[in-house]
Amino acid sequence: MNTNKITIAYGDGIGPEIMQSTIEILNAAGADLEYDVIEIGEKVYLSGSKFGISDSDWKTLENNKIFLKAPITTPQGGGYQSLNVAIRKTLGLLANVRPCISYAPFVDTNFANINLVIVRENEEDLYAGIEHQQTDEVVQCLKLVSVQGSEKIIRYAFEYAKAHNRQHVTCMSKDNIMKLTDGMFHKMFNKIALEYPEISTDHYIIDIGAAKLASDPERFDVVVTLNLYGDIISDIAADVAGSVGLGGSSNVGENFAMFEAIHGSAPDIAGKDIANPSGLINGACMMLVQMGKASIAEKIQNALLKTLEDGIHTGDIYKLGLSKEKVGTKAFTQALIERLGQLPSTFKPVHLNHDAKPIVIKTEPKKPIVKKLVGTDVFIDWSEDNRSGRLLGEKISQFMTGNLQLSKISNRGVEVYPAGHSSTFCTNHWSCRFVGKELCEPKDIILLLQQFEALGLEVIKTENLYTMDGQAAFSAA
Ligand code: NAD
Repeated sequence: MNTNKITIAYGDGIGPEIMQSTIEILNAAGADLEYDVIEIGEKVYLSGSKFGISDSDWKTLENNKIFLKAPITTPQGGGYQSLNVAIRKTLGLLANVRPCISYAPFVDTNFANINLVIVRENEEDLYAGIEHQQTDEVVQCLKLVSVQGSEKIIRYAFEYAKAHNRQHVTCMSKDNIMKLTDGMFHKMFNKIALEYPEISTDHYIIDIGAAKLASDPERFDVVVTLNLYGDIISDIAADVAGSVGLGGSSNVGENFAMFEAIHGSAPDIAGKDIANPSGLINGACMMLVQMGKASIAEKIQNALLKTLEDGIHTGDIYKLGLSKEKVGTKAFTQALIERLGQLPSTFKPVHLNHDAKPIVIKTEPKKPIVKKLVGTDVFIDWSEDNRSGRLLGEKISQFMTGNLQLSKISNRGVEVYPAGHSSTFCTNHWSCRFVGKELCEPKDIILLLQQFEALGLEVIKTENLYTMDGQAAFSAA
């Protein structure tokens, strides 16, 4: 493998402009890289590819192991799969690391001392993108969270904190509501935190955590969270720091890594030579560190700081009184190149660890768990009898025989039978919970489904109910 060869993609919208800028800077700084250019994004989608990348370009990506990517536009609506998500999941890019720094006093922000890093789980959660329309009224999206995925990202966050001399790791989740998925993530965080006594920790419910990131971002150091929350809070943090145009990001796995800006393809400003290339430049610097070229990354980051402190600003960060010159993408690039080799005088110069090793995650072997089938939730599409949970309950209980007994019916997570309120709004999507009088077997469920069919009730899906080590492993309603 040629360790200087990387894959690049110019992407969509402002992508080509900011990639051109970044490549010019990398070359001028002496990064000594060879580029394999691949075509991804909107054009490829619209030419008929469901994934926005051709097979041969996918091979190039796999061969080179390092990918510097400009943002792409995912066409809206069904039929197209997000290439970003596909790359992250297929190549096992488990951690999305998004540093967020304020550049005060030269870039306007209410918070002069933001210096935080968001470590976002990158492969699971709602981004598995598993969606089904189950009735003409109800659509579902599956939120999948694994023990391994949670362990890896949380260990990554602590190892990252250790490697970068950071003192504090915050976990954000919504485990007051999603007690199993987010609950597992939070419990894993508490468990792994014990292995790092030198690092202090805390936990925020994501809603107040996001609010604190917006109102008091300087209190945060490293934040680890699930995929969707991480995506949202990193845009909040970047915007609060000054501009989404400034943030870079790495997506790292065991064998591959992808580097990009945190922002999207900004079609509203594409082709106008006004985009801020700093996000992709910062992403490229993270790439250089990963490739063992920290001295080049340092040179570029110091030139970027010097450019910012000289008041040479693109439109997104330009402010009268703070900025000296409003420039376009090309002029910003030239200004930065002219400053390669210089250090900032007000900002603290960047000193990177030149011997830093890529973070390697060692996970614990899985412990055996006693898993027992104790029942099933049968989901049905049913609109008759004014949608009364009571009538549906009576209809089902009257005919069902066998080990599995109806224990309750719920609608959108609210119990409507045998308890329930007449004011609860019901859709045509019902969950009928059956629990075994004694331990269940799969054949009990098959028998139950045959009884549903005999009753003329349309089963949409079933979810088995298990206990894990004796604990109920399913939600209450
Ligand atoms: P966006 O990040 O592209 O733009 C949001 C706002 O920020 C816009 O007003 C834009 O002009 C501004 N902005 C973004 N980057 C800037 C920069 N470098 N300089 C100056 N201003 C900048 O978000 P969006 O509009 O929601 O998404 C546009 C497209 O990008 C969508 O198709 C979306 O799917 C895609 N997207 C791609 C990625 C990626 O490839 N990694 C990430 C996010 C969104």
